[in-house]
Amino acid sequence: MSLLKVFSRFTSSAAKPLPHSPRGYQSILSHLPFSTAATTSTPLGLAPTKPGKEKPRVVVLGTGWAGCRLMKGIDTSLYDVVCISPRNHMVFTPLLASTCVGTLEFRSVAEPVARIQPAISSAPGSYFYLARCKSIDSDSHTVFCETVTDGNGEDTLEPWSFKVAYDKLVIAAGAEALTFGIRGVKEHAIFLREVHHAQEIRRKLLLNLMLSDVPGISEEEKRRLLHCVVVGGGPTGVEFSGELSDFIIKDVRERYTHVKDYIRVTLIEANEILSSFDVRLRQYATKQLTKSGVRLVRGIVKDVQPQTLILDDGTEVPYGLLVWSTGVGPSPFVGSLQFPKSPGGRIGVDEHLRVPSAQDVFSVGDCCGFLESTGKPALPALAQVAERQGKFMAGLLNQIARAGGGHANSSGGIELGAPFHYRHLGSMATVGRYKALVDLRQSKEAKGLSLAGFVSWFVWRSAYLTRVISWRNRFYVAINWLTTLVFGRDISRI
Ligand SMILES: Cc1cc2nc3c(=O)[nH]c(=O)nc-3n(C[C@H](O)[C@H](O)[C@H](O)COP(=O)(O)OP(=O)(O)OC[C@H]3O[C@@H](n4cnc5c(N)ncnc54)[C@H](O)[C@@H]3O)c2cc1C
Repeated sequence: MSLLKVFSRFTSSAAKPLPHSPRGYQSILSHLPFSTAATTSTPLGLAPTKPGKEKPRVVVLGTGWAGCRLMKGIDTSLYDVVCISPRNHMVFTPLLASTCVGTLEFRSVAEPVARIQPAISSAPGSYFYLARCKSIDSDSHTVFCETVTDGNGEDTLEPWSFKVAYDKLVIAAGAEALTFGIRGVKEHAIFLREVHHAQEIRRKLLLNLMLSDVPGISEEEKRRLLHCVVVGGGPTGVEFSGELSDFIIKDVRERYTHVKDYIRVTLIEANEILSSFDVRLRQYATKQLTKSGVRLVRGIVKDVQPQTLILDDGTEVPYGLLVWSTGVGPSPFVGSLQFPKSPGGRIGVDEHLRVPSAQDVFSVGDCCGFLESTGKPALPALAQVAERQGKFMAGLLNQIARAGGGHANSSGGIELGAPFHYRHLGSMATVGRYKALVDLRQSKEAKGLSLAGFVSWFVWRSAYLTRVISWRNRFYVAINWLTTLVFGRDISRI
């Protein structure tokens, strides 16, 4: 089925570890003891590679769908790979909502980068750095970074700065949740983009569930604590609401009878839910969610306070858990880069995903968009786009290196082949209670097959199970689904 090709495979078998070679150490300053930013004015790091003596170096910013697919496909006999990212794993985002209520365990959706590209943790000249890129100097082919440490505790390291010279740079830094500048969202709502967000949601949900049964709590406070509000009716908001209602129907109602009449889910959306889906599927989703007890509210959130949010018509909505999922936009890092931007503020790229104003700089995934001059439409912020751009970029960089253009400023005149072309293969979303939507139309306006119900749910599960990155995680996911079915969800608050 074509849907099963929505994501091309990420099996670890294709990642080739580098043969160890004794070259290149003289330029690798990263093994010198680092000084902290407070004690050094010139950050240490990796010096430029020496053509003829060392392999060219690809620096990849980000470990999301795009960056990881690129690293998996890069030929490590042609390049050294240096990956810089604040997280050392890739998140299988389509299944993230399931981890919030314990249908899946967190590790089932997190894939360590070193499994996707083993060279970064074993080959000389290739590395993974737990850090955030702060700025890019494309004239000197250098990125400036700051390490990510564990916060402000006295026993943790202070972050320090370093720099890395690149021959080719691929920016795959993703996007950030949009808040539309609404006051209080960042402080009081939880986003759903990373594993730590899902962990926070699960802890808060279970905490509220436990506290609401303790003597001394008022009726009103109990209702507030057990009111879960989701803002944003896109696929993520709908899937999360579906997971929550499943949790309530199957686990809370059976095992927490004391509070079963208090727990509620409200989904707030300014327009229609799942606006990119076929109208028939939207109606089906609305009916299913309502049947599962999810209250759908049309409204615009104006203000978020610690325990209540206010809608534009003045309605006050008290909540115990607030999850915010209203789409994504460029991150401050992307905004700060002095490259031309596509409409919408993403990094502007040409048909080969090159940043035209900067030699040897490319961008893939949610952080990039076609420049207006290409005449190409903006692509949606989807894993299937990011994954295919990552795959395209790996092929392009391999081709450039094979043609002798791997080192900095040496790829001029190389034939690049066909430009990146995206064909949408369809969208899927689950709405809970063993029901899902599968929309195989290529665009909103196009005609095509769309399905809803149990068969779609089966297709949804099978498609994602086969797309989970490694066999290890595929096994975890299958086992988690089975244990949830047989024993119910794990509700221990650890
Ligand atoms: C809950 C959820 C469910 C989803 N479900 C689907 C789905 O079913 N189907 C679908 O097609 N899409 C889905 N998506 C969208 C999809 O996940 C994204 O489009 C995709 O992750 C984009 O990939 P990316 O590599 O561009 O960015 P990301 O996956 O966001 O990765 C960005 C990476 O860059 C790193 N980074 C950020 N800033 C810096 C910096 N300054 N320096 C270095 N690294 C940096 C981040 O830590 C991260 O590792 C979902 C998204 C979410 C959140």
